Amino acid sequence: MKTALVTGGAGFLGSHLCDALIKDHRVICVDNLFTGSTKNVEHLLKHPQFKLIKHDIIQPLAIDEKIDFIYNLACPASPVHYQFNAIRTIKANVLGTMNMLGLAKKHGARILQASTSEVYGDPLEHPQKETYRGNVNPIGIRACYDEGKRCAETLMFDYHRQNGVDIRVIRIFNTYGPRMAANDGRVVSNFIVQALKGEDITIYGDGTQTRSFCYVSDLIDGIVKMMHQGYIGPVNLGNQEEYTVLELAQKIIALSGSKSKVVHKPLPLDDPTKRRPDITLAKKHLGWKPTTQVDEGLKKTIVWFKE
Ligand code: NAD
Ligand code: UDP
Repeated sequence: MKTALVTGGAGFLGSHLCDALIKDHRVICVDNLFTGSTKNVEHLLKHPQFKLIKHDIIQPLAIDEKIDFIYNLACPASPVHYQFNAIRTIKANVLGTMNMLGLAKKHGARILQASTSEVYGDPLEHPQKETYRGNVNPIGIRACYDEGKRCAETLMFDYHRQNGVDIRVIRIFNTYGPRMAANDGRVVSNFIVQALKGEDITIYGDGTQTRSFCYVSDLIDGIVKMMHQGYIGPVNLGNQEEYTVLELAQKIIALSGSKSKVVHKPLPLDDPTKRRPDITLAKKHLGWKPTTQVDEGLKKTIVWFKE
């Protein structure tokens, strides 16, 4: 049985990935529990193939047993959390990714980097193809995250060219589902929590900015497929259905039967005005496309938050 190491494995996406991998891998989950929680992997703690290591990937990591696959997901992902300590976020992306590349090199492991649609910044091309080089503000408040992720991609490709490390790079677009933290600050979790509590739904700006929302099980399927095929990437993974933030708010109010009202708050600096993935490469190389309709995924997520 092969061994997979998942950094950020106690987070939202990482914990679902651990669930998928445990079926046919030994899984080592590495997490500093900054935004993640042991609750997300509690059900795995007694599994004989599962191990949780509390560790910050900013520090080097030595593992005795042979590792075959590394999924590098460790990084706070919501603006509230990645801006909380911007310098740590850059370190997680740059030093953390270097440490994991060093580990991959030592073990001869294949390493997958969880990059992001944020590398496209406020895109001037729509929808975004992997060839688009982005429109990012390198000195803005999102730069610790988006420039950090861009540098992580650079490191992946330089370790590949210079040291022959076997890499895979995915660019994840907005993903939602059960196990998002209620205080995460991302739009889907905020709106669902507000709708269920009957609080005002906080729309930043006029709500005309768009995002495309992928359900977590679809995304995890894409991540695992990416690891087990030959194209190194980068490959966009996301849902192509695009909604304005105002449309999302209206959907969540309707689906949860809430009486909440919409209120407008200031738009954060550098907030991208639109975002939708071109997933031609994912279809071609992975045979992958999302299958969960947004209404269906939101319903499941609302039920989970209620519980
Ligand atoms: P999350 O915050 O739930 O998970 C991140 C995990 O990484 C947490 O468990 C956190 O404790 C851990 N972590 C953070 N810094 C660490 C460090 N220095 N060392 C060890 N562990 C650390 O967020 P998520 O949505 O699950 O995101 C996972 C990955 O996917 C991130 O790299 C994120 O950038 C990427 N991503 C997510 C989305 C999305 O919509 N969910 C979109 C694009 C990219
Ligand atoms: N947003 C909002 N209200 C909230 C949280 C977010 O209107 O309570 C907006 C945010 O300004 C952005 C979009 O929703 O335009 C998506 O935000 P999120 O932080 O989820 O993801 P990202 O901006 O990183 O794509």
